[in-house]
Amino acid sequence: MLKDSFNRVINYLRISLVDRCNLRCVYCMPLENIRFLPGEELLTSREIELVVQAAVSVGFHKFRLTGGEPTLRSDLIDIVERITKIPGVDDLALTTNGLLMRTLAEPLKRAGLKRINVHLDSLNPEVVRRQMRWGSFERIWEGIAAAEAVGLTPLKLNAVVVRGYNDREVSDLARLTLDHAWHVRFIESMPLGPGKCASVAAQGYVSNRDTRELIERELGTMYELQSEDVSDESRNFRLNGAAGVVGFISPVSDPYCGSCNRMRLTADGKFHMCLLNDDELDVRKLLRRGDSTLSEIGQVLIRAVANKPFGHRLAEGHSTQGRSMFQIGG
Ligand code: SAM
Ligand code: SF4
Repeated sequence: MLKDSFNRVINYLRISLVDRCNLRCVYCMPLENIRFLPGEELLTSREIELVVQAAVSVGFHKFRLTGGEPTLRSDLIDIVERITKIPGVDDLALTTNGLLMRTLAEPLKRAGLKRINVHLDSLNPEVVRRQMRWGSFERIWEGIAAAEAVGLTPLKLNAVVVRGYNDREVSDLARLTLDHAWHVRFIESMPLGPGKCASVAAQGYVSNRDTRELIERELGTMYELQSEDVSDESRNFRLNGAAGVVGFISPVSDPYCGSCNRMRLTADGKFHMCLLNDDELDVRKLLRRGDSTLSEIGQVLIRAVANKPFGHRLAEGHSTQGRSMFQIGG
């Protein structure tokens, strides 16, 4: 078991595959002046495989692929196959905006992927177009159906709530859980990085307490579920008689730093120690030396874990300066 200096067990690695995206969500990615990583700076599928092997050897067993939009990697299936073949990888999931799931769900399932989280901010096509910019509700919905059909389950839907965009229609999303055994989770917006998205996230912030109150006013009282996983960042509830779960992820109003079990790997090969801080440790240089051993890669990861800061300081106005959300992976 790998513990950080605050005695937290760190066993979950979130791997960003790419910083590009086919959407431009208002709180995540600006419309212009983005400098994407050149292809040669992205970790290759073999390099990612080596990091996962090293991570397993030091105690990690849970992995997630994210981005940017991870489905934009043309070698995504190869990456999934490589990771799922590694003994000790208990869980591999993917976070996606779902746009390309219609064609990818089946090959991903065959490659060994267990489940996906699909990001969908609204059931209203107009709001999706406005908030997720370039988003198509119909295509995301088809992607969700495709994922469910091949058994990439339990399916989790993530919605970031932003005042003036989707904050009045959260009940429509929550209502999905009445008939579907899905987890519909509401995420508080966080300001990350320089630029306009951070101010949209800060100014559009809606506390999950308000989101929950609105849902309960419109759909009835929910009862809280006991989480089986202490590091689950979501507080989970169920509507009366519902098949699925309504979750609230509240990094701003109810931080869960005390039970954090994560480390992040950026697409350009840095261990990013805490989502909302800038501290990073490079591993790509070592990977590209040519003769690096798993033990050496594992040592970098152990150092990153040892230097993991305790938590964020959003309340004091402190967040990442260097990277925005799409450059870390959420
Ligand atoms: N493109 C994929 C997607 O949208 O799911 C994966 C990457 S995205 C950065 C991962 C998650 O971060 C998504 O669920 C998204 O809703 C969330 N996210 C992005 N920007 C955010 C912000 N400023 N505050 C809170 N959550 C955010
Ligand atoms: Fe793309 Fe995901 Fe960011 Fe939206 S949240 S812009 S889909 S990376």
